[in-house]
Amino acid sequence: MNPVAENMFGLKPGTAIGKFPREVWREFELAEIFHQVFVTAEPKEREIWLDPPAKRLIKVQLTPIRMEEEGETQGVLAVIRDLTRLRHLETVRSDFVANVSHELRTPLTSIKGFIETLLDGGLSNEESARRFLTIISQETDRLNRLINDLLDLSKLESGRTELNQTRLYLAPLVEEVRQTMDARLAEKRLSFSVELGSVAVWADEDRIREVLVNLIDNAVKYTPEGGSIRIMEIGRGNEQEFIVCDTGFGIPKESLGRIFERFYRVDKARSREMGGTGLGLSIVKHIIERHKGRVWVESELGKGSSFHFTLPKYEERLDKRIEHK
Ligand code: ADP
Repeated sequence: MNPVAENMFGLKPGTAIGKFPREVWREFELAEIFHQVFVTAEPKEREIWLDPPAKRLIKVQLTPIRMEEEGETQGVLAVIRDLTRLRHLETVRSDFVANVSHELRTPLTSIKGFIETLLDGGLSNEESARRFLTIISQETDRLNRLINDLLDLSKLESGRTELNQTRLYLAPLVEEVRQTMDARLAEKRLSFSVELGSVAVWADEDRIREVLVNLIDNAVKYTPEGGSIRIMEIGRGNEQEFIVCDTGFGIPKESLGRIFERFYRVDKARSREMGGTGLGLSIVKHIIERHKGRVWVESELGKGSSFHFTLPKYEERLDKRIEHK
């Protein structure tokens, strides 16, 4: 048995030498397959869950060893592959497909329902017809956002998008984003303050705009009337840390670790009502990590949240590197 196999079965080096399989493994199943292959001289393969030393799914392929075609079996060769990660990825993928289908079906069900109501006589009352059509239009917008976010995420995950990193200042970018949200800020009477200096970072302008739109949009969505939003920064060696801080609903402790997952929402109904897709923060995480930065959240329920992210500071040599290419 090689060291990798010993390790997989939690055996000390050399302990299996000179022993029968049944003496080596408590799992009778594996010892039994060795025996069968030896006796029948037929190859076999089997997937087995190991637990302990760790919960792992392995695939064992056993082949009889013979000196000549019809000769007596001398031994059995077992090749083991660890399938744990592969199986985990398969589950993640099928969960993702199930989530996407569910997310697409929800607005579609509502659109279909209102169209049927309209066809069933709802058209005669103009006021309610207008209301139904407004909902249909909103749900169509949601479908559009969802599909755009999904495409964006899939491009980021596949690593197909090149980052276009340049010397970038965040203050003008934040101002640009704030302007697009002016009406909503006024409507909710939210104060908005920006405390950013003139440190440049090394980042992709369009991608960082996306990060800011998502974080500031969330701050606006999840902060009740009269609250405040602040954008700050702290220098940390060759990194710059940015903070989007709000006095909103906050996030319960048990959700803090999951909030950057795709489709994870603390309050599904509230997020949906606000037009959320549940994908914004996972897009943010991908973009920041592509820049070799980190992103995290601190929050207290009922008090507010602060989202932090870091980006590499701009240095002249970074620009030079590009010129040399
Ligand atoms: P959504 O489209 O639902 O806003 P996100 O991925 O942007 O999706 O955020 C995921 C969830 O994290 C939200 O549904 C919300 O529950 C929570 N969240 C995000 N930002 C904030 C915030 N600033 N304050 C409170 N909760 C937040």
